[in-house]
Amino acid sequence: MADVQFETKPATQFDLFAGLESTNHEQIVFCQDNATGLKAIIAIHNTVLGPGLGGTRMWYYEHEKDAVRDALRLSRGMTYKAAVAGLNLGGAKAVIIGDPKTQKSEALMRKFGRFVNNLNGKYITAEDVGTTTKDMEYVQMETDHVVGLPESMGGGGDPSPVTAYGTYMGIKASAKIAYGTDSLEGKSVAVLGIGKVGWHLLEYLHKEGVKLYVADINQDILAKAANEFGAIVVSIDDMIGLDVDVFAPCALGGILNENTISKLKCQIIAGAANNQLEDEKVHGDKLKEMGIIYAPDFVINSGGLINVYSEYTGYVRERALAQTENIYQTILDINKMAVDHNINNQIAAIKHAEKRINDMMLVKSTY
Ligand code: NAD
Repeated sequence: MADVQFETKPATQFDLFAGLESTNHEQIVFCQDNATGLKAIIAIHNTVLGPGLGGTRMWYYEHEKDAVRDALRLSRGMTYKAAVAGLNLGGAKAVIIGDPKTQKSEALMRKFGRFVNNLNGKYITAEDVGTTTKDMEYVQMETDHVVGLPESMGGGGDPSPVTAYGTYMGIKASAKIAYGTDSLEGKSVAVLGIGKVGWHLLEYLHKEGVKLYVADINQDILAKAANEFGAIVVSIDDMIGLDVDVFAPCALGGILNENTISKLKCQIIAGAANNQLEDEKVHGDKLKEMGIIYAPDFVINSGGLINVYSEYTGYVRERALAQTENIYQTILDINKMAVDHNINNQIAAIKHAEKRINDMMLVKSTY
């Protein structure tokens, strides 16, 4: 995916329509309200498959340009994630400009909800960095086009266990590719980031008799993982170069870069973190050259999206989990496509998503 280009004008200006054209975005909505201080951008990338679903990020952006760029980049990522997960959803994302710790209020979130409502379901929102389930409850007071609600309100609650299940399925599929069997018994897996997803992933892996290594900046969670799962605690730096079967990045993005890739000794990279490859082409190609099986991040971590989509159609956890299981087959299909076309797995995943969008565009070409 090429990055969003705004660089044709001096730093104080940017060419918005050139940015939209380069990413083929459908619509951008700028929301402004003096009374609540709301400044938000809703970016709708593509609605060929269905309404655009994507969370609302609240962040203190230094420049408005950065907020627009984030909205464009993230909304496009949602299009690919939904397409490859086989959902009838398009891609969108919203950003609210401001400090979530000091500038968020019920009024601001509800005003934002009214803007979402004005889009009549073309955009469905959810929580993201800087927003919470509680914020979505406020949004829901103004619009039905919101997911990620607590179970007490008929929602699916925290999607992390479903994301972890999908990641587990992706690890098993990757093992099938690398070793001819998807049994993980006796295999070694290094999990970087033992947060909401990482913890549930450890549960699945431990149950299957996996030898676990863990790293995190949170020492308490590491001690807990060692205690409950017999996991071996290592430093973050040491984890990158561990001679293990699987490296599962479940913390932040950009972990696969110039500095880390040459140190890798694993056979498989399969984890839940978003945007793992600093550069999808350069670093994806490098992993391919090294013979490492890479499970594309937006495919393996799509369980969370599947979970919230399930909420939109009437939430049933078993259905969300069953649909999440398809990640196993999708990883196999994408790897085959990558081998057949001699391209890296991440690029193959993007092509897989684009193919579905193009195919459905043809389906919709007649009444
Ligand atoms: P989380 O915040 O609960 O956990 C992140 C963990 O990473 C924490 O334990 C934190 O201490 C640790 N961490 C932070 N910085 C670190 C660093 N520099 N080195 C090592 N550890 C570090 O987040 P989560 O919900 O578990 O999500 C994990 C990743 O998966 C994120 O990249 C997220 O975007 C992605 N993801 C999550 C979901 C979901 O359903 N939660 C869905 C899709 C993708």
